[in-house]
Amino acid sequence: MSTLPELRMTGARPFPPRVSAFTRPFWDALETGTMRSTRCEDCSLLGFPPRNLCRACWSRRLAWTDLAAGGVLYSFTRVHVAPAAFRADAPYAIGLLDLDDGVRLMCRMVGAVEPADIGARAQLLVLRYDDGALFGARMTHSSPTT
Ligand SMILES: [Zn+2]
Repeated sequence: MSTLPELRMTGARPFPPRVSAFTRPFWDALETGTMRSTRCEDCSLLGFPPRNLCRACWSRRLAWTDLAAGGVLYSFTRVHVAPAAFRADAPYAIGLLDLDDGVRLMCRMVGAVEPADIGARAQLLVLRYDDGALFGARMTHSSPTT
């Protein structure tokens, strides 16, 4: 899996993740530029976020695997009235992405995103804050600095 493009963000993460023993492999991989999740070793279901119990067959045999680096924008919304932690960033867009490996996930969209972008290519990004990484995405036609 190739390393995701990285975007330098200002300051600390506004709502840092609570990292547990189970989610640490996800956050460690994100620090090195890879999005990971869990695939069920019994029914092969791949989903996001990572789980320790398969939501399809209830198996506990799940293994970490790299996710696709991009996909298409399924939908998005623009947040104008944000929770306190994100108020300084408003307005901002939250997108639903269908990754090339079939995973649908929700994440912050960086850069311009418009209704005409629905169905267009987007790529995952590592958002590099002073205190660690978060993930996001941008439209592939979008400039990395906007
Ligand atoms: Zn399963």
